Amino acid sequence: MLVVTKFGGSSLSCATQFEKVKNIVTSDPKRKIVVVSALGKRDSSDTKITDLLYILHAHLKYSVPYEDIWNMLYTRFVGVQKDLGINYDITKDLDALYKELNKNISQDYLVSRGEYLTAKLMSSYLGYTFVDAKDLLVFNYDAKMDEGTTEKNVKNAFAKYGTIVVPGFYGAFPNGSIKLLSRGGSDVTGSILSKCLNVSLYENWTDVSGILAADPRIIDKPRAIKEITYAELRELSYMGASVLHEETVFPVQQLNIPINLKNTNEPSHPGTLIKNVCTDESNIVTGLAGKKDFLSFNISKDHMSNEIGFLRRALSIFEKYNVSIEHIPSGIDSFSVVVAGSSVEKCQYELVTELRKELEANVTVEKDIALVAVVGRNMAKRSGICGTIFQTLGQEKINVKLLAQGPEELNIIIGVASKDYETTLKALYQNLVA
Ligand code: ASP
Repeated sequence: MLVVTKFGGSSLSCATQFEKVKNIVTSDPKRKIVVVSALGKRDSSDTKITDLLYILHAHLKYSVPYEDIWNMLYTRFVGVQKDLGINYDITKDLDALYKELNKNISQDYLVSRGEYLTAKLMSSYLGYTFVDAKDLLVFNYDAKMDEGTTEKNVKNAFAKYGTIVVPGFYGAFPNGSIKLLSRGGSDVTGSILSKCLNVSLYENWTDVSGILAADPRIIDKPRAIKEITYAELRELSYMGASVLHEETVFPVQQLNIPINLKNTNEPSHPGTLIKNVCTDESNIVTGLAGKKDFLSFNISKDHMSNEIGFLRRALSIFEKYNVSIEHIPSGIDSFSVVVAGSSVEKCQYELVTELRKELEANVTVEKDIALVAVVGRNMAKRSGICGTIFQTLGQEKINVKLLAQGPEELNIIIGVASKDYETTLKALYQNLVA
């Protein structure tokens, strides 16, 4: 049995956090593969190493003096090495990097040094072998991962060394040049390694004890979710819950490898288990999520229902402007197309003009719509959930603008005015989740 153990930046912000990581890793011999992000924030006013590296790159690119930024980076890394009292002399690697700094340095290469150096510190501290992600994760020149080569590399490295530390967030093209994943991508590195080695568990350690059932900025101390399916997680993440990088789930889901989200500062807490099938039925609603700033294009025309192909023609106009559609609630001679406000920022007026002209229809735009998702695998085939939702919102005098449910009955989406968003979440949490 093998476990991939990934630690986020807040679990690696200083020597004390490294110590916690070591206790966690050494307390279970199955934890043989460790993935790290770059040193994170020590407190809310601090700056992540990755952000400093992006800033350093911008300074270099635009020929702005960069010594102060470099010194901040240097001091952070050397400070951790000294506090840990390890043999690895990070100053050599830092001095070598300093010599490489120039106006044309690759951003991907420079930014990846955050994870690279953090992994070197961690490998020395744990006594595990450092394996560079550039020798594991291989990308074709079209930026798609070469899955076969990556799997072979990972298997070989693990077979050779047995216990390894791998920097997250990057891989390389076949010529060795570094390619970064998107922000937060160390989660994905952990997931890819888990898949390549077909491990029994992928642990993802952060500074929260699992996924919360609602946004803690709106709901006071929401409960943590014990178990959640990959599909439920996708619904919650899509609707704004920030949990894992959105590409994390795909590699492990294929092999049904569970992900356990755990808290480095509270390791005894079970956290949240994400897997294909969950049996826990103690909660009907797993969680709530939501987002503001949606916009509805309301389209109406007399006898529209008799015009075959009307909807297709309308949607093809949205497609032409590359706008992704969230929902299409419909009446008989009218329907509306709900989209994220940001997706039509630049083309809203052209879109309306074209819809009016091509469809000869009335088109109005309604702004400031918020969508709230009620997500739960245990809601399927159970009566009364919508009843509770309507009753709750009725009591709060909140007008429901839109209601949608996917065919799997995994989620119910409610559209309300943006001004009612917080009240909606609070009331639904109280009556459905708490
Ligand atoms: N350090 C990178 C970031 O801040 C990647 C990661 O932490 O996953 O986005």
